Order: sequence, then C-alpha cells, then structure tokens
Amino acid sequence: NLISIAIDGPAGAGKSTIAKRIAEIMNLLYIDTGAMYRAITLKLLNKNISFADKKMIEKILKNTKIQFINNCIFLDGINVNEEIRKPMINENVSKIAALPFVRERLVKLQRDIAKNNNVIMDGRDIGTRVLPDAKYKFFLTASINERAKRRFMELKEKGYDYSYDEIVKEITNRDKMDSERAFDPLKKAEDAILIDTTGKDIDEVINIILSKIRK
Ligand code: C5P
Repeated sequence: NLISIAIDGPAGAGKSTIAKRIAEIMNLLYIDTGAMYRAITLKLLNKNISFADKKMIEKILKNTKIQFINNCIFLDGINVNEEIRKPMINENVSKIAALPFVRERLVKLQRDIAKNNNVIMDGRDIGTRVLPDAKYKFFLTASINERAKRRFMELKEKGYDYSYDEIVKEITNRDKMDSERAFDPLKKAEDAILIDTTGKDIDEVINIILSKIRK
C-alpha cells in the first residue's frame, strides 16, 4: 500500500519547492523528474552530441546511470545538482524531453522508483502518464509574471545575470514546446486538482494540498 503523489505544472509554478516540503512533512521520497531530463541534456551537451543523432542518443542513454541520493541527482556517479540548473540546460532540455525514446526510458525509471517507495513526484506528465493511478494528483499553475519573478529571484541568488524579459521568453518557449509536443505533453490530468498559486505563499499552497490529502 504505497502512497504516490503527482505534482505537475508549467515551469516556475513552484512544484519542486512545494513537493520537497511535502516530502519532509509526510516522510515521502521526493523525485524531481525534470532533473532527470536535465541530466541527460547535460550529458549530451558535454559530449557535443547533435540532437538529431537519434542512434547516438539512444546508445548514450543505455550507458547512463541516474540516481537520487539525499535529494541530489547523480549522473554516472557525479553530483550534477547545480550544473543542471544552468541557463544552457533551460534552453535545450525541452528538445531532448520531446524525444519519445528518451521519455520511455525515464518514465520506466520513474515508475520503478514509485513501485518501491512512497513518493511525491513532480514533472509534466506524472498524473497523465507516469503514475496515472496515483491517489493524489495536483496541477500547479501561476501567472507568467509570477512564475518569471520566481525564476528571476532563483537565478539571481545563484549569481546568474538574466533579465526579467529573457526569463519570460525562456519560460514561455519551454512551456510552449512542452505543451505542444506529440508525446506526453504537459497537460492537467482530468482527475488532478488545479491550484493557481498566483499571490499565494508556499505555506498557503502546502496547506491546501495537505488539506486535500488528509480529507
Ligand atoms: O521541472 P523542470 O523545469 O526542471 O523540467 C525541465 C524540463 O524537463 C521541462 O521543461 C520539460 O521539457 C522536461 N520534463 C518533461 N517531463 C517531466 C519533467 C520534465 O518533459 N516529467
């Protein structure tokens, strides 16, 4: 009787912050599925692989190890938790995430984790594809201004000098690609609870989610 909680939504909606906190409160394993797509993207960029070279990408995927240890992601045994947040990855990850064989591989990994653990997973297709039978599903959104503002603060804290307008553009592009791709697009599951986090602080959103779970 394992618990699965699915959190989906567009970039910057607060999914990871919220999911991490709920994992602590409920003693669940937190799985950041976006980090997995980011790690693969990092590896391909580091190796200078053309995104059109499907054969090569498939081969590399087969020889790639992705693990979560203490909420950090490890790519082939190396902690890449910071590196995968770089703007370069933001700009490219949606292209890699649109490839069906990449998704197939990562979805399998995600399901295997949920088979053996109480999990809260965040991403784009958790409620629709990865864990369609999850008992609790949430879809977080916020206005584009609010999401860009959050990303702006986050990047600034990490020392990146990106303008607000650039961030709006980056998020808008990524959401567009993620929603329009043919294979498992970003979409609210029919049975997911929609929460608009615009103007709400983290604790408010957490309390809404906990109240739905504890009902
Ligand atoms: O959640 P995060 O913003 O880190 O995700 C990075 C990218 O990974 C998304 O823009 C999307 O292209 C891809 N992704 C996905 N499916 C998921 C999680 C992330 O396609 N379940």
